[in-house]
Amino acid sequence: KKYKQGMEKTRNAFSGKINDLIARYRKVDEDFFEELEEVLIASDVGVNTVMDLVDELKMEVKRQNIKDTREMKDVISEKLVAIYYEDDNEEIEQLNVQEDGLSIILVVGVNGVGKTTSIGKLAYKLKQEGKHVMLAAGDTFRAGAIEQLDVWGERTGVEVIKQSEGSDPAAVIFDGIKAATSRDADVLICDTAGRLQNKVNLMNELAKVQRVIEREVPDAPHDVLLVLDATTGQNALSQAKTFSEATDVSGIMLTKLDGTAKGGIVLAIRNELQIPVKFAGMGEKAEDLQEFDAHAFVYGLFA
Ligand code: GDP
Repeated sequence: KKYKQGMEKTRNAFSGKINDLIARYRKVDEDFFEELEEVLIASDVGVNTVMDLVDELKMEVKRQNIKDTREMKDVISEKLVAIYYEDDNEEIEQLNVQEDGLSIILVVGVNGVGKTTSIGKLAYKLKQEGKHVMLAAGDTFRAGAIEQLDVWGERTGVEVIKQSEGSDPAAVIFDGIKAATSRDADVLICDTAGRLQNKVNLMNELAKVQRVIEREVPDAPHDVLLVLDATTGQNALSQAKTFSEATDVSGIMLTKLDGTAKGGIVLAIRNELQIPVKFAGMGEKAEDLQEFDAHAFVYGLFA
């Protein structure tokens, strides 16, 4: 029920194809597995992850002596969930927000993935939970980025700490920390630049921002959230690798899951990078952000 709205495209594509496969092949055989592989790869599960998954499925089929493809639906669901939760700990990975004191969330990602929107939605969500939230406009590079964050600040009733375009992002974040501390805020969400044209500069800038945060607040940043666009498929995976080299990415905000049939990227990210998906973006409005629950996600695929 959780992902009823928003997941239609992935669900229709995925469960439609699996059901079709099960109907066409009555017997679980090599051809069935081959086509299943194709369906999974087309859903952007990622080749390496698909290989792992199919190996697991074959072992399970042998173990349970499964012959009829109709029995495969449950086995596939179970193994998809197992790929996500490697350690049998089926808990939603929550935001690392502290009970006391200021929590700092650093948000990184390439321009256009939905970073500003996701920050707005997260601010809204935390405010709904009764938290005193502030934003720091650390993308001083992209024209209009500060104004766009301001719009979200107004929309959600959250104060935005900013300087002029072109100023030092680390200085803006420093200001943000000072302001958030003096106003006794619970959470400071820090925006950052996302210009990937100059990768080395950007990565240096992000590393510097992270160092400033670490220096000013013990145990901070409490979360480094990388925003990825689900519609970009395997590209999202390579972005995750790049950003992980510069910052300690602790979670993914996966946007535009409502606009893609390739939701399988969730499993690839987790399986290949061991980074949990903490939030899923399901639309453009403030309330269209959900805590990611892999169990609900996988079972939603077959609902
Ligand atoms: P940024 O450049 O990374 O800050 O990206 P923006 O936040 O400006 O978002 C780019 C576009 O994607 C905007 O038109 C957003 O409304 C849209 N967008 C962001 N998140 C989602 C989402 O979860 N679903 C959909 N359908 N659109 C989204």
